[in-house]
Amino acid sequence: MTRMLIVGPPGAGKGTQSKKISEELGIVAISTGDIFRENIKGGTALGQEAQRYVEAGNLVPDSLTNRLVEDRLAWEDAADGFLLDGYPRNLTQVEAFDGILARLGARLDVVLELVADKEELVSRLSKRAEMEGRRDDTEDVIRHRLEVFESETAPMIAEYSTRGVLRQVDGLGAVDEVNARIMKELP
Ligand code: AMP
Repeated sequence: MTRMLIVGPPGAGKGTQSKKISEELGIVAISTGDIFRENIKGGTALGQEAQRYVEAGNLVPDSLTNRLVEDRLAWEDAADGFLLDGYPRNLTQVEAFDGILARLGARLDVVLELVADKEELVSRLSKRAEMEGRRDDTEDVIRHRLEVFESETAPMIAEYSTRGVLRQVDGLGAVDEVNARIMKELP
């Protein structure tokens, strides 16, 4: 049983690798970004609240996001391990997540960071924009999301480094190559 996070800048390949890791380890992959996008598409109350933040490339308010994750981790399928993609996203969420784990009586095993340089990210995200038509994949919003990553998410990753649970993997290369690197780093 593994409880883990996958972190890294937008476009580093977290979603793709999450799916593979989830299959390989037999744990559920939970992406807060996917949950927000599905709810926006479905026009739910959660979607209506989240929409303007997601489309502008800003973080959805912590209170809403923390509640969403706590509810989702209470599902049966997360009882034997999980991979969280896209959460926590800042230091406030780390603190909330510590509380969620404590209430579950669970411990985090590893935080996996996919590392990639900025130019590579912008080019990957622009390609994804053409293929998937995500409304937050326009050039301006992409740049803004990278800034949000630097200012809010990088300090969160540093915190897990201090705690000694961070493992870094080079995110550049073919999907299977990157996956092989990841599997070597997992406990
Ligand atoms: P992602 O697919 O992880 O890049 O997330 C897409 C968007 O969903 C982000 O730009 C945010 O607007 C929102 N989002 C996803 N996860 C979080 C989170 N943990 N906290 C706040 N907003 C989030």
